[in-house]
Amino acid sequence: MAERLGVATLSSGDLLREAVRRKSPIGQEVESFMKKGMLVPDRLVTDLMMEHLRGWDAGRSFVLDGFPRTAAQARALEQGFRETGGIRIDLAIDFEMSPEKVVRRLAGRRVCGRCRANYHVRTLPPKQPGVCDRCGGTLQARVDDEPQTIRKRLAVYEEESEPLLGFYRRQGKLRILPGDLEIEAQYEALMDLLKKERLVCA
Ligand code: AMP
Repeated sequence: MAERLGVATLSSGDLLREAVRRKSPIGQEVESFMKKGMLVPDRLVTDLMMEHLRGWDAGRSFVLDGFPRTAAQARALEQGFRETGGIRIDLAIDFEMSPEKVVRRLAGRRVCGRCRANYHVRTLPPKQPGVCDRCGGTLQARVDDEPQTIRKRLAVYEEESEPLLGFYRRQGKLRILPGDLEIEAQYEALMDLLKKERLVCA
């Protein structure tokens, strides 16, 4: 969506994985949490995200992926935005999906080590197994996409992230979409919502 609409996107998971890859001090601190499917401490991830968001132009649209993940992070984000002025969250979208489908989707996910393009062994396979269509990079499963770790992440989601829905519901910003549609149908459902909310032109 970000690519097609030409808006910026910032993924907390991508930033953290990059920190781990570079073996930066933050990377070394978060690696074991991520491998186990646990959330990394709020302060670390909030500081990392705010570091990137702080310089952003308030008039620029953006998609946050994977952040905030706890009510404490959402509050810290609001505080950070108050300090920077102008930037705000318009909408929080909850993609609903059964736990079984989440496990199937993540266990089959493959990511390009070079350009980070995503594939799925059954629903979105590359033309040549293990090779990225876009850049020829090698495709790998994420270390936390082991079925056992996925289940742990789902339990963590229920406990720590689900309460966040109430935060955005109370602000009137929460919208719910099915998350298990085919890729194009999923994109259309998302675009229909954004048009209805007047966030993109009809
Ligand atoms: P993701 O790429 O969004 O699936 O995130 C992968 C992993 O990075 C998570 O399982 C957490 O260990 C960590 N992570 C990503 N975003 C956050 C966040 N907002 N808060 C805490 N941990 C996070």
